[in-house]
Amino acid sequence: MTATATRVLVLNSGSSSVKYQLIDMNDGTRLAVGLVERIGEQTSRLAHTPLAAGGDKRETEGAIADHDAALKAVAAELAADGLGLDSPQLAAIGHRVVHGGLKFTEPTVIDDAVLKEIERLVPVAPLHNPANLTGIRTAQAMRPDLPQVAVFDTAFHATMPEYAARYAIDVETADAHRIRRYGFHGTSHAYVSRKTAALLGKDPSEVNVIVLHLGNGASASAVAGGRCVDTSMGLTPLEGLVMGTRSGDIDPAVTFHLKRVAGMSTDEIDVLLNKKSGLIGLCGDNDMREIRRRIDEGDERAELAFDIYIHRLKKYIGAYSAVLGRVDAVAFTAGVGENAAPVREAAVAGLEEMGMAVDASLNAIRSDEPRLISPEYARVAVAVVPTDEELEIAQQTYALVNA
Ligand code: AMP
Repeated sequence: MTATATRVLVLNSGSSSVKYQLIDMNDGTRLAVGLVERIGEQTSRLAHTPLAAGGDKRETEGAIADHDAALKAVAAELAADGLGLDSPQLAAIGHRVVHGGLKFTEPTVIDDAVLKEIERLVPVAPLHNPANLTGIRTAQAMRPDLPQVAVFDTAFHATMPEYAARYAIDVETADAHRIRRYGFHGTSHAYVSRKTAALLGKDPSEVNVIVLHLGNGASASAVAGGRCVDTSMGLTPLEGLVMGTRSGDIDPAVTFHLKRVAGMSTDEIDVLLNKKSGLIGLCGDNDMREIRRRIDEGDERAELAFDIYIHRLKKYIGAYSAVLGRVDAVAFTAGVGENAAPVREAAVAGLEEMGMAVDASLNAIRSDEPRLISPEYARVAVAVVPTDEELEIAQQTYALVNA
């Protein structure tokens, strides 16, 4: 890395998509952002926005066969703006890796041993880690000389005490198959809990925060003095809150029942609980905007879905208040948490005895900035804190390659 290398390319490789951001670490400026979707189909789409050049979004459609072709197309777009992957200003590539298991609790420079270990974790993250690996290998082939860093979704939760991380099942069976609660969305929970402390004018070590990451996927975490002590997702992202398409918490016996009585296969049950449950299973929509619109029109199914979503959220706020003992702040983040004022209002309604309240006029304000929405008298700060997983990945990557 040269002294002038201050840029980090962040890659988030999914099974059929690649999201990317090129960030200047001097001030966190986005130089370019983009997304390749439907990789492997005839109708692949690349949307690239050259923010540094002040340019408009450029969209191209047409078959992109695989991740290799996708990354080459991204590199060509970046090069067209003078931001090519061969630039000496590029310090590193930071990769989002979903599952780091017990081994990876920190961002890690990727070498062959690290790749092998990420591969060894495929059985516990069959949907995510293979795609992440493909993205890493493709990027390595393009810039073999450049540090490539893995930032793990599970890492922030590695501080959970054993009694929070273990399921109450036979220990030998659990250990033989690495079954335990790992948690996900860790970069978001880390970033948002830190930002919330800053909003309160405190050091992260001084505050206890409940972070509610409510996107299409959703998870809650209890963060005590900057360290995660509990989180709602488990072995996989299926556990916990009601999500856009996932059920969240469910009696495990439902799965036996579906198998024995409904005759469903394991794969069918997997699809049911991960893709056809949650809000979409309850009312046919997983977009909170649409659900609110339907509720305003008097749609009872949408209303029941909303109520189930809020009830679960409230249970986690209560549970994590008990886990933390003292709560200084509740922070809402991600697509729903940052934008859906009715969700924030309903989740906190009735919790005045716990020191939590939302001020209606503050809650109605729309902004991209971290902000308090609780009234001055409330003992617990309720905040909206926009997440920025890409910036967090870039910062962790940059800090590691400069260490
Ligand atoms: P994420 O996974 O963080 O990108 O969040 C995506 C989800 O955020 C969508 O499925 C919507 O349910 C929700 N969302 C985005 N914008 C809004 C909005 N303006 N109002 C309510 N919900 C929103």
